[in-house]
Amino acid sequence: MKARLASSTDPAPRLYTLLCALCLAACAGIQPALGADTAAEATLRQRDSAFDREIVQVSPGVYTAVGFSPANISMIVGSDGVVIVDTGLSVSQATEVAARFRAITDKPVKAIIYTHAHGDHTGGSGAFIGEEKPQIWALANFGSEYRPLAAAGLTIQRQRGTRQAGFELPARLRINNGVAPAMQAQREDAFVAEDVATAPTHTFVAGRKSIEVAGLQLDLVAAPGETDDQLYVWFERQRVLFAGDNYYRSFPNLYAIRGTPYRDVRAWADSLTLMLAEQPAAVVPGHTRPVIGGEAAQTALRQHRDAIRYVHDKTVEGMNLGLTPDQLVDYVQLPPDLADNADLGEYYGSVAFAVRSIFNGYLGWYDGNPTRLRPLSPAGEARRWSQALGGQDKLRQLATAALADGDAQWAAQLADQLLALDAADAGARELKADALTALARESVNAPARNYYLSVAQALREPGARDRHSR
Ligand SMILES: [Zn+2]
Repeated sequence: MKARLASSTDPAPRLYTLLCALCLAACAGIQPALGADTAAEATLRQRDSAFDREIVQVSPGVYTAVGFSPANISMIVGSDGVVIVDTGLSVSQATEVAARFRAITDKPVKAIIYTHAHGDHTGGSGAFIGEEKPQIWALANFGSEYRPLAAAGLTIQRQRGTRQAGFELPARLRINNGVAPAMQAQREDAFVAEDVATAPTHTFVAGRKSIEVAGLQLDLVAAPGETDDQLYVWFERQRVLFAGDNYYRSFPNLYAIRGTPYRDVRAWADSLTLMLAEQPAAVVPGHTRPVIGGEAAQTALRQHRDAIRYVHDKTVEGMNLGLTPDQLVDYVQLPPDLADNADLGEYYGSVAFAVRSIFNGYLGWYDGNPTRLRPLSPAGEARRWSQALGGQDKLRQLATAALADGDAQWAAQLADQLLALDAADAGARELKADALTALARESVNAPARNYYLSVAQALREPGARDRHSR
């Protein structure tokens, strides 16, 4: 019995259906083979150990399924039932987890708690809903991140989300998603995804809500951060805290390059302070392995909070000096004690992307330099550069030389000048694709890697100029 609770204006199920359908159609062979791993690729690949498949016993009666789905799925065992915290991306993935959980206890599911509305945390609900429908808990503003985009009729974030996740890339080019395995969707996912958004039956508006279910007392605490609808679950008896996506083992994704409304990073840091005040003995992240042990758990939360605060405060300091976003990304660097923490590596979030987002979140797009108020169009600028340099062939030579010199960013920027003059320029498209591939291979940040490689693939795709070229 699967409830169909998503409204027709709710883009999440459709988005994931689309993404899964794209996986099924994953193009083969458009990207050339890459050869041995670069240092960045090897580093990213090593992160696989943070989400190897395992049912982790976090404490007596608390289990977390890591690596079966992009997001963790947890079970808390009570006296006459169990509570599930987050349900994974798809019913097929969650069904496997449900079977593993049933091998531990066959008590019925009395409640499901969503830490937030992202599809990778809610899509597997159907696997946990039997004859007796469980309570489904969430914050009252559940889905607040994507609702404004849907209301505006915005659709481009689907393509951007696909690129960030690397869904269109062949498996051999995908390493992982920084905090989650790179999963190819199974065929059945494309069909069940339509009805995965099993809506909350119980909500609360703000603050702390204590609930009693399955003989367990749990506190649900509003914790805006990665999304405004984020909550954490505090299981005081075992001192286990379920952090949702406000904590995982990576520099946090303070800005998602697929594009979302502004993520309030100050609120995110404050939410981590709130979690720290619980003095947990274990923290279960939304992704990656649980942190078990009071000192380790609290250190992890503290360092993440400190990293977010540092990036926020340093960005504001630079903004007050009049620095533009392009300058701020050099100005704001994590201090060594935080930069050296492997669990703050930029596998998922990026400091530079966060800095730009913070600037934009406070002041909007204008960087303060009036030259940029009404800049030349890309084609207008490219025409002038081409003339100044003595023609397009010179631009092409410079781009080719930059690529050969290992200056891939400059090569990509020069290729953009050529493409601004002629988007169908096959040589420029190939040059840009090669430059983006080189940038991908030096990126330890999985979303950026996926995005570079996805656009490189699109540039090499015959006949796809209008849809894909940038
Ligand atoms: Zn997540």
